[in-house]
Order: sequence, then structure tokens, then C-alpha cells
Amino acid sequence: MTDALVAGIKVDMKEEPKKFVSWRREMVEKQIISRGVTDPLVLEAMFTVPRHLFVSEALVDSAYGDFPLPIGEGQTISQPYIIAEMTQSLELKGHERVLEIGTGSGYQAAVLAQIVYKVYTIERNNTLFLQTRKLFDTLKYHNIVTRYSDGTQGWKQEGPFDAIIVTAGGHQIPSPLIEQLSIGGRLIMPVGGNFSQELIRLEKTEEGIKTTNLGACRFVKLIGQHGWDE
Ligand code: SAH
Repeated sequence: MTDALVAGIKVDMKEEPKKFVSWRREMVEKQIISRGVTDPLVLEAMFTVPRHLFVSEALVDSAYGDFPLPIGEGQTISQPYIIAEMTQSLELKGHERVLEIGTGSGYQAAVLAQIVYKVYTIERNNTLFLQTRKLFDTLKYHNIVTRYSDGTQGWKQEGPFDAIIVTAGGHQIPSPLIEQLSIGGRLIMPVGGNFSQELIRLEKTEEGIKTTNLGACRFVKLIGQHGWDE
């Protein structure tokens, strides 16, 4: 990666300050491996993606903390462990085309892009959409495709997808997303009420749909036709 201008600061990706590398290593060891995430592709991606470049300048020193962070527009970037757990639940090998709903800061998409062939990500907030699309260009994430629309309707023209990740909480899994998942595909999404949800993993097989509950979580609202009202 070449030099990048992020939040007005010149960042030399080859000569990244050593503190970020050690903060990232600590994040992976103390927050992610210690809680049971084992997939080497996920661990390597979390160790590689510079999370501090996906938050505002004021939050750079908190970027590797064990908590979610605000990203503007009333939205948040999830805690690193939740991102690792959701990514691991998709059982990715590297050849996949993955759909993400809720681009936000772009961090989750960047983690996926480090692992898979191509990431399709949809954002409904125009400010975040424009800001993050620019960041992907700056950081040269060429295998991420962005779209400004209501992600609860999926991305029919590009489907079916090998995996789908929804990074905002809804009261149900949007039916278009289940339709746009390939047979053998995995979907992960926070499902529940306004203030707390359960992380639901869905697998689409020849025999039908199988779901598993991975436990409680808290996400911002999924807003749209098959989500919450504005
Ligand atoms: N994956 C993001 C998380 C951002 S928070 C990251 O790594 O930073 C969730 C995001 O989902 C917000 O940006 C919000 O605007 C977006 N969102 C909510 N409803 C949506 C919808 N129907 N379609 C697309 N994006 C949506």
C-alpha cells in the first residue's frame, strides 16, 4: 500500500507507526483469541486491517479498545471481538462473494475484503456512504463495491451471495436477503428489539433454512422496507 491521506493526516502504510502494530496484536490476543475465535483467516485479517484509519482523528488512540466507537451520523463501529465473531460465523475460505448491509465506517467490509474475493456493501446514509467510498479508494480496497440504497432489499442484480452479513439490528431477517443467499450460504444478523438483539446465524441448505443463536448483542437500527421505520 502507498501513502494515504486519511482525515487530513498523511499516513505511510509501509512505515506504519509501530504502536499501531502492537496495539493490533494486543487486540487480537487479549480480546479475540482469548474469547475463543480460532479461524486463522479471521485472526490474520483483524491483525492486518488498520482499524485506526476507519475512525475519526480524535478517536485514533481508542481505535483498538475493547468497545464500539461512534462514527458520526448517530452510528457506531462494533467492538473488535463482535466483528471477529460475526466474520468467523460466515466460515469463509477466500473465494466468496459477500454482501454486507450497513457499510458505516467501512471497517467490517475491509476485514471481509482481506479474506474473500469480493465484497458488496450497501449503506443508506449518504454522508457515511460518500465518506467511506472515498476511504476505500484512498486505501486501495479494490475488491469492495459500494452502493447507496436500502440494504434490506439486498442487491438482486449481483446475487446470489455465498455469505451475507447485516451490521444493524432488525426485528426479522429481511426476506430478500434469504432469497439472495446461495444454497450452502451463511447469513449473520442481529435480530430483536430496539435496544438489544440476538446474533442469529442462518444457513440455507437443500433441505431448508437452519438457524442458530450466537447470543445477545446490541446494534444500531436497521432502517428500511424490511427493517424498522425511519
Ligand atoms: N459495518 C459498519 C457498522 C456501521 S453501523 C462498520 O464496520 O463500521 C450500521 C450501519 O448500517 C449504519 O451506517 C447505518 O446507516 C446502516 N444502515 C441502517 N439501515 C440500513 C439499510 N437498510 N441499508 C443500508 N445500511 C443501513
